[in-house]
Amino acid sequence: MIEALLALGGNVGNSRAILDRAVGLLTESGDIVLKARSADYLTPPWGFKYQAPFINLALVVETSLSPRDLLVRCQSVELQLGRDRAHEKRWGPRTADIDIIAYGDLKIDELGLTLPHPYVFERAFVLRPLVEIAPDWVIKGKTVRQALSELDTAGIKRLPPQP
Ligand code: ATP
Ligand code: CA
Ligand code: CA
Repeated sequence: MIEALLALGGNVGNSRAILDRAVGLLTESGDIVLKARSADYLTPPWGFKYQAPFINLALVVETSLSPRDLLVRCQSVELQLGRDRAHEKRWGPRTADIDIIAYGDLKIDELGLTLPHPYVFERAFVLRPLVEIAPDWVIKGKTVRQALSELDTAGIKRLPPQP
């Protein structure tokens, strides 16, 4: 089993419920085991600004899946939750996006899979949830805590648990 970091986000539909369902679907078959889950965060949109705010959260998981199979699983959960890649805009609205931020300390840059995730150091919406559950995880020579301290977290709100 290898530890991996996943980042989940969405801004279409009831995002908190959809992402909660995503966590359930990811972990239901036993080859992805949940080790830690951050709170939900409300975050300003990134990339394409003129859209609704996002809900984001992060997970530490343990998995027996290869990096490719983990990506396939993440994408199949996105599909089950109604994501429609064919009709969406890059960095635009979506029901559920699940990215692999890191897979152990593996570094790969292949067609369709880059690890660690290429934009992690630019994204407070990924690092802010992650710092809660994996502050000392080292990504490309930097801890999550250090990487987050270099970003502006204005507008990001930690949400209380849902009843
Ligand atoms: P971004 O990658 O900037 O966060 P996005 O998540 O909106 O953008 P998607 O349309 O979800 O982009 O994914 C585009 C492609 O990114 C996927 O088809 C997948 O093959 C590829 N990809 C490469 N590295 C990763 C990774 N570490 N995690 C998830 N997808 C990845
Ligand atoms: Ca993404
Ligand atoms: Ca993605």
